[in-house]
Amino acid sequence: ILFAKFLVLIFSITKCDASIPSVASPVQLLNLSNGTKSDIVYNEEAVRNLFLDPKLEGRNVVVFSIVGAFRKGKSFLMNYILRYMYANYKSVSNSQLINHENWLGDENESLEGFDWKAGTKRVTSGLILWSDVFLYDSNDGEKLAIYLMDTQGLFDHKSSSTDNSRIFSLSTMISSTQILNLLNIIQENQLQYLQFATEYARYATADEEKSAFQNLLILIRDWNSPEEYKYGIRGGNAYLNNFLEIHDYQTKELQSVRRYLRSSFEKINCFLMAHPGKTVARDSSYNGSWSQIDEDFVHGMQDLFEFLFSPRKLTTKKVNGVAVEPAELLVFINSYVENFKS
Ligand code: GDP
Repeated sequence: ILFAKFLVLIFSITKCDASIPSVASPVQLLNLSNGTKSDIVYNEEAVRNLFLDPKLEGRNVVVFSIVGAFRKGKSFLMNYILRYMYANYKSVSNSQLINHENWLGDENESLEGFDWKAGTKRVTSGLILWSDVFLYDSNDGEKLAIYLMDTQGLFDHKSSSTDNSRIFSLSTMISSTQILNLLNIIQENQLQYLQFATEYARYATADEEKSAFQNLLILIRDWNSPEEYKYGIRGGNAYLNNFLEIHDYQTKELQSVRRYLRSSFEKINCFLMAHPGKTVARDSSYNGSWSQIDEDFVHGMQDLFEFLFSPRKLTTKKVNGVAVEPAELLVFINSYVENFKS
């Protein structure tokens, strides 16, 4: 009997294997503590290794960022993205794929990674990088270093609008794919942040002609009209195209935001995500396990992650049209942050 108990114990320990390595963690790249420009705290020391590790030499950078209002499930989703990435890509700290056959992992496993469900109080606004870098080597010799970045503070009534704009601008400038996380619908005022970012980028790159930024994915959470526009990328793009149409009856501002958007990103897509269910939305003791998530949301994650993270979908970060390596990106981040301080 003792031996049987021992076997059960060993089995349960193996089953508890986390879907992400314990050596990796979130790292605060930048804090914005309140609305004045001088209050940017840039933790360059904390992130240097993420860009200067010798394993990253000769690789081009891919950066995914997610922005949007506080408590709208960004970090929750990022943590499932981490599981998907560790199942499909090796990383600097992890040379084996974890749960390759089943990226979701154990159905009752609690959700780890970026801090999520932080309650109603927010401590800081800023940009947070995942401390591990995913690696991809294609058959034709392309080598990539993939970064994930979470943000806090956008459209949060506690943040000043300057903070909101700075978070949006900086994260858009650093990333090759920006995910704008919105609840229910696209709203005009949210698009104005995009316009600000565009204007800043044009100033920063001094390039009037080319799109300043690369991919924008507008991710609508809790989509509640699937009979009008279906969940997923096709329904999302139909909804987006309808929204971005320019009409004579719109004010000049509404028209100009739409033109700005189209001209400032190389690609804009929209994805409609189902509601995850009552437990995820309301249960304060919920641990994030996928057994408690509605099926449509789980399918949505699968579709969304394939759309964003399949090797052929990865978009390298370009600065002035040229792909950059990690060490070069760090230099650009330094100068972007300096610009925002001054
Ligand atoms: P963040 O501040 O945007 O990063 O939000 P969090 O990821 O910390 O999540 C805040 C709360 O929203 C948590 O209680 C999650 O369980 C819940 N949540 C996560 N995803 C969704 C979603 O798609 N819809 C809804 N309604 N709630 C969600």
